[in-house]
Amino acid sequence: MRAALDISPTHTAKVGRDNLVGLDRGQLHEALVSAGIPERELRMRTSQLWHWIYHRGATEFAEMTNVSKQVRATLADRFVLSHGDVVSEQISSDGTRKWLVRFADGNEVETVYIPEEDRGTLCISSQVGCTLNCRFCHTGTQRLVRNLDPAEIISQVMIARDSLGEWPSPSQDRQISNIVLMGMGEPLYNFDNAASALNIIMDPEGISISRRRITLSTAGVVPMMARVGQELGVNLAISLHAVSDAVRDVLVPLNRKYPIAELLEACRMYPGATNARRITFEYVMLKGVNDSLEDAKSLVNLISGIPAKINLIPFNPWPGSPYECSDAEAIDRFGDFVNRAGYASPVRAPRGRDIMAACGQLKSASEKQSRRDRDRKEAAAAT
Ligand code: SAH
Repeated sequence: MRAALDISPTHTAKVGRDNLVGLDRGQLHEALVSAGIPERELRMRTSQLWHWIYHRGATEFAEMTNVSKQVRATLADRFVLSHGDVVSEQISSDGTRKWLVRFADGNEVETVYIPEEDRGTLCISSQVGCTLNCRFCHTGTQRLVRNLDPAEIISQVMIARDSLGEWPSPSQDRQISNIVLMGMGEPLYNFDNAASALNIIMDPEGISISRRRITLSTAGVVPMMARVGQELGVNLAISLHAVSDAVRDVLVPLNRKYPIAELLEACRMYPGATNARRITFEYVMLKGVNDSLEDAKSLVNLISGIPAKINLIPFNPWPGSPYECSDAEAIDRFGDFVNRAGYASPVRAPRGRDIMAACGQLKSASEKQSRRDRDRKEAAAAT
């Protein structure tokens, strides 16, 4: 009989063998117990597997040359090492790459790699779709299907590393030097899974990307923000986008639940925010909506006292989007004012627009099934 592993059904490969990629150390240990690995070997085998899976990116047990043939055979009999399924990979004229990743239940998300001179950033998704419905965001037009589990979040990193040929985990000059949770979904509505995945990503004996190079972006789920600092210690980014509740209520409907004052109070309390580790405020530049000099002044007043930098994001259009990007002059004027007030205010260069990989352009075809669809499918499957 198979011992049940505490992993999600979507994580079990179609072949019926459980996937070890995406498990944390405790789960790996359990998997080895379930395969009958002798107790005295468990510690050693767990760390060997950890090394092969997350440092070397192994996808075959046969690669594990320091593991005995017999153990390899036992493992191959029961488990697989799958990095996940890539439906498509697109490469932009500016070098940005976008993958459409499909999970065992058919749901899909997008993952984006943005190479820059001094860094390479992998932008990963935390949910299929999103519940927030921010007016200017393409993902918001896709209804949430579900949260990703930790293995599905990890899978995006494994796939990107495969594509870039970045195994074993290099100690320096990495192509993927930084990770941002800025893809599809609201990570703080899927905190536990995002946290488990980040703990695997940060483990120094594996993928080993430091918390200083990881940024979690939230639209402002205030009650969850402190845990990001306390439990993960990663950088925090806030999708602010407006300086009055009236405007932010429209752009980011979550504001009706957690208005600007509460959001900024949570930023002031954010554990670990210092001048060396500033909170990033993302601010999408929308023509005539939030880009006036008055807005810039209000912004500076609002964030006073918070160690902060402002990331100005030129609006990226998508089919049917209801806004236009601010003019270059308006962005400059806004940025200059904020900058002169003492805050770094880089303008984020749009990347990968030609493959719809830029901020806010991600969307997959997965849609929430209506109950009727689901019932119909189940009835069909039962006959
Ligand atoms: N839900 C989280 C994580 C997604 S981050 C959050 O809101 O922070 C995605 C970032 O891209 C957010 O800052 C979002 O506001 C920004 N964005 C969304 N649509 C955009 C668009 N059309 N153009 C530019 N930036 C956009």
